[in-house]
Amino acid sequence: MAIYCHRCGTGLPSGARFCSNCGTVVAATVPMAGRPLVRPRVGRQIAGVCIGLAQANGWDVAVVRILTVVGFFFSCGLVAIAYLAGWIGIPEEPFGTPGTYPPNI
Ligand SMILES: [Zn+2]
Repeated sequence: MAIYCHRCGTGLPSGARFCSNCGTVVAATVPMAGRPLVRPRVGRQIAGVCIGLAQANGWDVAVVRILTVVGFFFSCGLVAIAYLAGWIGIPEEPFGTPGTYPPNI
């Protein structure tokens, strides 16, 4: 999937973070998309399910957490079951992987 600089239109390889022609940041809207789905050891609140999903999909972790908490109360337990399924099913981040994602303090 090729991407294009929104400023000068230069075609860039997928995964590029900066335009090679003008230096514009081209990956600002999806800062950490494409990471493997794991539960990070850094930045987690309970089991790391929310931040893991956010990192793997390039979502804002705060939005994911808010939707999860709201879902806990308004989904008749579906979100709670999904969270537990993620806790069990999503692998924990391996030791030795540096926590590059800034923890949401
Ligand atoms: Zn450019």
